[in-house]
Amino acid sequence: MTEHSKPIRYGATINPSPEYAEAISQGTYFNNTAQQLMKISRYEEAERLHKQAIEIKERGLGKDHITTALSYNAIGETYIQMKRLDDAEMYLQKALNIREASPRAMDEIDAAVTRENLAVVYEMRGDLPRARQLRRVGSPNNMLCAHSNCELYNVKRSNLLQCGGCKSIYYCGRECQSKDWKRHKKYCKRTAAAEGLEA
Ligand SMILES: [Zn+2]
Ligand SMILES: [Zn+2]
Repeated sequence: MTEHSKPIRYGATINPSPEYAEAISQGTYFNNTAQQLMKISRYEEAERLHKQAIEIKERGLGKDHITTALSYNAIGETYIQMKRLDDAEMYLQKALNIREASPRAMDEIDAAVTRENLAVVYEMRGDLPRARQLRRVGSPNNMLCAHSNCELYNVKRSNLLQCGGCKSIYYCGRECQSKDWKRHKKYCKRTAAAEGLEA
């Protein structure tokens, strides 16, 4: 039987190929499994799965697809945990370019998440001005709390606390700030003005 099916429309892309279907199903499976491995600190295995997902997605969806960007962001987060900052930056920048170019509102939130991840890379390198600048891109209405487990999105600048030590990182409140302090303190350029905020 000859197939004359109509192309199926996924968002803006018309592509009914088997590679497309594989990229969606396998890519999602690899990504979810890698996220589970991340939670138990098995970063090398997570990296391998993200790499497989990226290969499949680049082949089936393309290097500029919003679903490929999800894997670029995820492997970037993995490299942050592995302290491979150059690799993290490369993938996060790719993810950010795609997410910032997307017209969908939901991708703007994802772009903010990727900017926060990139800010962490700059923070770890000691480039706090660049971290601060990235975190403020969404100001005044669409910023994020910097604590990685915080679930608030589109936070107003006026509802965020700024770290008094480095003035380069923002939190929704003291709870998130103190939870992130163990991580952030290594990078925070402390000043006398910070004393009030560090408890
Ligand atoms: Zn928070
Ligand atoms: Zn700080």
